[in-house]
Amino acid sequence: MHHGLSDKSVPDLRAQHGWNELPEPPRASPLTLLAKQVMNLLVLLLIAAAGISLLLGEIGDFIAIIAVVVLNAILGFVQEWRAETTMQALRKMLSPAAVVVRDGLRRTIPARELLPGDLVILAEGDRVPADADILHEAGLLIDESVLTGESVPVSRAAGESVASGTTVLRGHAEVCVTAIGQQTRFGKIATLTATVSDAQTQLQRELQGLARQLGLLAVGVAGVVAIAALLTDRPLADVFMLGLSLAVAMVPEGLPAVVTVTLALGAGAMARRNALVRNLQAIETLGAASVICTDKTGTLTENKMTARVIRTAEARYEVTGSGYDPAGHIARDGQKIRAEDDPVLARLSQTAQLCSHARLVRRGDQWDMVGEPTEGALATLAAKAWADSVDRDSIVEELPFSSDRKRMSVLERTGAGMVLHCKGAPEQILAICDRIDRAEGPAPMSSAERAEIAAEVEAMAGRGLRTIALAYSPGASEPIVEEGLVFLGLAGLVDPPRPEVRDAVALAARAGIRTVMITGDHPATAMNIAQKLAIPGDRVLTSDDLAGMEDAALAEALRENVVFARVQPEDKLRIVAALQDGGAIVAMTGDGVNDAPALKRADIGLAMGIRGTEVAKDASDLVVLDDNYATIVGAVAEGRRQFENIRKFVRYLLASNTGEVLALLVNLSLGGPLIFLPTQILWMNLITDGVTAISLGLEKPEPGQMRVPPRDPRMHLLGLSALPVILAFGLYTAGASLWLFYSLLDQGVEVARTAAFTGMVLFEKTSVFAFRSLRTPCWRLGWTSNPALWMAFSAMVLAQIAAVYWPPLQTLLHTAPLSLDHWGSILVLALPLLVVPELVKSVRSH
Ligand code: ATP
Repeated sequence: MHHGLSDKSVPDLRAQHGWNELPEPPRASPLTLLAKQVMNLLVLLLIAAAGISLLLGEIGDFIAIIAVVVLNAILGFVQEWRAETTMQALRKMLSPAAVVVRDGLRRTIPARELLPGDLVILAEGDRVPADADILHEAGLLIDESVLTGESVPVSRAAGESVASGTTVLRGHAEVCVTAIGQQTRFGKIATLTATVSDAQTQLQRELQGLARQLGLLAVGVAGVVAIAALLTDRPLADVFMLGLSLAVAMVPEGLPAVVTVTLALGAGAMARRNALVRNLQAIETLGAASVICTDKTGTLTENKMTARVIRTAEARYEVTGSGYDPAGHIARDGQKIRAEDDPVLARLSQTAQLCSHARLVRRGDQWDMVGEPTEGALATLAAKAWADSVDRDSIVEELPFSSDRKRMSVLERTGAGMVLHCKGAPEQILAICDRIDRAEGPAPMSSAERAEIAAEVEAMAGRGLRTIALAYSPGASEPIVEEGLVFLGLAGLVDPPRPEVRDAVALAARAGIRTVMITGDHPATAMNIAQKLAIPGDRVLTSDDLAGMEDAALAEALRENVVFARVQPEDKLRIVAALQDGGAIVAMTGDGVNDAPALKRADIGLAMGIRGTEVAKDASDLVVLDDNYATIVGAVAEGRRQFENIRKFVRYLLASNTGEVLALLVNLSLGGPLIFLPTQILWMNLITDGVTAISLGLEKPEPGQMRVPPRDPRMHLLGLSALPVILAFGLYTAGASLWLFYSLLDQGVEVARTAAFTGMVLFEKTSVFAFRSLRTPCWRLGWTSNPALWMAFSAMVLAQIAAVYWPPLQTLLHTAPLSLDHWGSILVLALPLLVVPELVKSVRSH
């Protein structure tokens, strides 16, 4: 028995070898982020404009433009920095762990803490965390393609080595670390792959496209207006400024940044709800999900297994107790019984222990288990039978469990020769048995007995029990051949449904999202659990059924309420594809190596955080940290909220810009002095609008959000339906500020312009309430449910008051103080923007 490194030796080794990590991929540094704010066409144009102002001696304008540019850069920088740090925190949460033995104790530590000499346990689906020599292995199959580019898996035996960065496709092993970090082969050739991607999402691309189109339109309009202005003999510098103001007014500069920030903050919010987004696109796609394909064990159920019944050739046993506490007992015909009094039970317990890697551990007065729950239940069962303990060192070979084989075997060396022990799904075990165990020893298994066992399996599964069969074969030899075994018996395990899942399934159903169970478990167990959770299941299909089905028949079957059971991981890919062909947006869970293709194919691949292998996590878009189905539904709700919020502020920003542009165009066509000065437009667009828009991104979910069907994924951010709303707001705000301007012109152009400018800012701020929901009136949302919005609103109104009364800003923005009368008019004009949309929404929502 190896004890691994001792904790005492760790500090010295650490000093000598450092950490098991590779240099971080280059991150956006604060400086590059800041540079990004300045290096865009608009800002460069503004800087040019500032230069022209300086040449013309307009020092005020020069300072104002530069101040706005700087302020805008700071705002952008702060937001993007927040986004970047959120994403970095998410990356940290995904950093891998390793199972080591130190001081003889098995524990899980962050992989970066590994040291040469560490004893590491590798399991199926693990990424090998460091270069290491193999001490023991069972069926170890390694994918070395990251190192060699060779995609054919290789088997590795004791004495050989495994390399950091490769993955365990099958089997498990005990290995001793030889090199860490940059000393590994992988470290020498590779830079670490980032685990959270911030590749552009479809929304971001769509928005960039929109911004580009508007930009082109802006250049066109600004050009036409400039030519028209030139013909009216305005000074060249004025014309340039005018063109620039129009362009600034038309382009929603803040949009792409606001979306990035909102999505990153959204990812942070999801992580707090146990859903770790690996790429931002997942948030958008989740909002449109129409089918969630979920496995059963651990996602819908607790994955805490306890044996309830045992059935052998001659007897039926009841098992008491709960969880992994060995305090229960086994009763035969109502009488407590121990292994020493029942040879079949003794042999069954022996096999159960030898076929299990799980260990029962006591934490305080609670019993828990380290390992796989099915095996933990069998270990507990053996303890309740008071079975003799087994010597695991007597195991000479193992064929590990896999979801496609659905059984596992170990070969034990005993004084009386080799004994093969096997456990797995009953069909898989029955298929390799020709004898059955009795008190006096193995006897041939009759077909009646075989049928009886099959019927018993159905009966147990029908009660929702998970069935495991056990078998053994004395007189076996190396290597393992799984045939001619002696059937020992069946164990029925309970794995209770998670209590919160029933509601989550119902919530999903109300939101038009179908829940499809896809499990490796028995059809009757699957149907029983489906029923308990109210997952509709009129029909159950197994891997065998699928094999005999054409794609068209599968598509037809998927129109019904179907549950998939006893499937192979490969079947998941076909099911996802068939659902997608039917127009569904599919979220699919997975945990094993073989689930990776289906996770990649699904619109949203969901890897399990606890049970999931590194391979599955790598293939996924989102990691469900607590493995819980309810978390998935929560993430969908969050995805919907994010998408809705983005739609809200896109419309809000466009409505604001439309108002400014219309006011300017009408003002120009009427002749007369400019209604807004370029610096004022910059102030409105780059400062006040962006801040309020971000706060719209923080709106809480709307009450009815999970009562409507998923959105059509082809739906654009801005459908035609958005146009009337945007135009209505634009027309009103433009009309109102034009009215203010022209009716106050006789009090001096500075006053009139200040009133129009302040009016426009306040109109835009007031409209924000209308955009809080496109359907639900504010009184139903709760006026105070979004404190950020009020903070943004108050801060921007105060900023505008400062713009009007604070001398330095007065100089920069060319404003004049307003009187109470002016404020009165502005407020009266702003009122309809608050009242009318609420009335319309109230009437329509009835
Ligand atoms: P899900 O796909 O919902 O996670 P599952 O855990 O039942 O369900 P698999 O892990 O593929 O799916 O297991 C399939 C069957 O294999 C189980 O029903 C059980 O009979 C058997 N089985 C599960 N775990 C083991 C194991 N560790 N050793 C032997 N047999 C097992």
